[in-house]
Amino acid sequence: MNKPVTELIHHPYQPPAGFAAPQPGIFKASTVLFPNVAAMRARDWKHKNGYTYGLHGTPTTFLLEERIATLEGGLQCVLVPSGLAAIANVGMALLRAGDEVLLPDNVYGPSRALAEGEFRAWGISHQLYDPLNPRDLEARIGERTRLVWLEAPGSVTMEFPPLAQLARICRQRGVTTALDNTWGAGLAFGGFELGDGAGVDIVAQALTKYPSGGGDVLMGSVVTRDEKLHQQIKLTHMRLGLGIAANDAEAVLRSLPSLAVRYRSHDDTARRLARWLAGREEIAQVLHPALAGSPGHEHWRALCGEDGLAAGLFSVVFHERHAPRQVDAFCDALKLFKLGYSWGGPVSLVVPYDVPAMRSAQLGTWTHRGVLVRFSVGLEDAGDLQADLAQALEAMQRIG
Ligand SMILES: *Cc1c(COP(=O)(O)O)cnc(C)c1O
Repeated sequence: MNKPVTELIHHPYQPPAGFAAPQPGIFKASTVLFPNVAAMRARDWKHKNGYTYGLHGTPTTFLLEERIATLEGGLQCVLVPSGLAAIANVGMALLRAGDEVLLPDNVYGPSRALAEGEFRAWGISHQLYDPLNPRDLEARIGERTRLVWLEAPGSVTMEFPPLAQLARICRQRGVTTALDNTWGAGLAFGGFELGDGAGVDIVAQALTKYPSGGGDVLMGSVVTRDEKLHQQIKLTHMRLGLGIAANDAEAVLRSLPSLAVRYRSHDDTARRLARWLAGREEIAQVLHPALAGSPGHEHWRALCGEDGLAAGLFSVVFHERHAPRQVDAFCDALKLFKLGYSWGGPVSLVVPYDVPAMRSAQLGTWTHRGVLVRFSVGLEDAGDLQADLAQALEAMQRIG
């Protein structure tokens, strides 16, 4: 070999083994190399006993899979390019034409859109159930029900369901359950251990939110305890090609050590602001699962504990005397709270929602008449954020 152009690619030098640092390395690969044909034929991508192709994992993604499985209290994990892809991966692995999936009425909106769009077109039906009424869920489980999604709380309207009760009903009826655990982040409660032997079968999370923590990565996870279920999900993951990039995996691995302290800080500040807003006359109701009087507060307390954790997310319903344009003016007047979707990052965010347009009219689970505004509390100083809310409420009054 004497051409430099080839030597640049096939140079024999190997760095010494045994390098150790707090942060793991980033291994990027589509192609994985095999020492010989026999090794190439012997390797099995399904069981992580070796590497076959970038889509099936690298040391970096295997490491993150292990950590997320541990965080959720599960045994296996599949990583996908977004939280929504995690929801889609679960549905596409488990549902076939003629099946039905049940979703809570306050489900993450795009999850409902997937059911109303693709799933319906593929002959898979869906029903919405009232997440605060276990009997409503029970009555909707039928012969064709294959999957029930649970979410705690709803990420806009914040109702906290009796998760253990809902999971128990599904298990009794032999229906697979999947929990969207983005809010709990694996910290506030464990989806596989909801108390008294209750638990779900699948825990999905948008790692985009707290595990990333930067507002700069999109990723999702699907964690299981049952090997057969995991293989079913993994097979669909492979067939659809839902791999993730090593640089994104590294960003999440870098953020995980601070997950718990960040979560606690988001939580502390959110509760302080929620309590302060509850005392403001512009606000008809504050929706925060850890605050007494919020829908499902007792379920949050039973599951997460009297001194339990809650995320940095809450909503307020303005008094109906404040017209939507006045509430828009409040949002526009905020300076530290930025207008933007998603949550879990350092920057506080705000979004006004038209809730009636997002809900099933038949179920009638939304009875408020004022406009809802959701806050995602970041990592800024709580006093500064409170002052920002105060000045924006003043500015809103001037609109009249
Ligand atoms: C953000 C979010 C998702 C989707 O995550 P993306 O990574 O944005 O696709 C799913 N469920 C909940 C509850 C979310 O908040």
